[in-house]
Amino acid sequence: MRKRIIAGNWKCHLTQKEGQELAQAFKGASQNGAIDVVVCPTYTGLSAVGQAIKGSDVALGAQNVYWEAQGAFTGEISIPMLQDVGCTYVVLGHSERRTLFGETDATVNRRLLAVLASSITPIVCVGETLEQREANKTQEVITAQLKGSFASVSAEQIENVVIAYEPVWAIGTGKTASPEQAQEVHQQIRLWLTENYSDSVAQKIRIQYGGSVKPDNAATLLQQADIDGALVGGASLKADSFLGILQAAASNQAVSS
Ligand code: PEP
Repeated sequence: MRKRIIAGNWKCHLTQKEGQELAQAFKGASQNGAIDVVVCPTYTGLSAVGQAIKGSDVALGAQNVYWEAQGAFTGEISIPMLQDVGCTYVVLGHSERRTLFGETDATVNRRLLAVLASSITPIVCVGETLEQREANKTQEVITAQLKGSFASVSAEQIENVVIAYEPVWAIGTGKTASPEQAQEVHQQIRLWLTENYSDSVAQKIRIQYGGSVKPDNAATLLQQADIDGALVGGASLKADSFLGILQAAASNQAVSS
């Protein structure tokens, strides 16, 4: 039984104070640890939000990280810096990083290998564009992203990874993949893990769905056999909507365990 993991990606939103207030609302929402709850503020919000949730059941995540520990890398943030403010998760290869900031599978791989050498849990994002889906290239695109992002990652290391399947056409658009469409890709990802690692590795790895997840569609998505959580953008910025998703995940977990 894989423990559900729900992460809120706050993107480029919220000041320190706003982030602290929002994060407070999620304390205790894991239903005694039945699910993992993560919030991912901006870099400038990490320290303040980390203080607000310290000692609680809400974990702190960053939205990206650089692979070098320190040096002349203006504008970058390193793994020791994330650890210093209490981060235990980091999102890698989000589609906005890939499409707007030149992220590639090769750079995701460099970040991932560095993160795997630390105690931080990476959430690695993959997903196809609408054009790729309409050209029936979804499986090919996801496989290439997995192959590139996980190059040189061992079976022992990959067990510590969370994968997020986020169809680009569903992110921030209000268009959610149907539970069947999402499940189909999640199943393909698990099959890729079986073929490239082992069945036991594939069964352990948590695969989140991301793309316009809301309180009213979370439960049906999470009922799919291979969907183990959600990476939530817009709906994680309001206490009510993120709490609704957390409740759906916790009750779904209780039902299926
Ligand atoms: C995301 O930012 O990863 C995301 C899935 O956004 P949204 O929930 O707004 O589609």
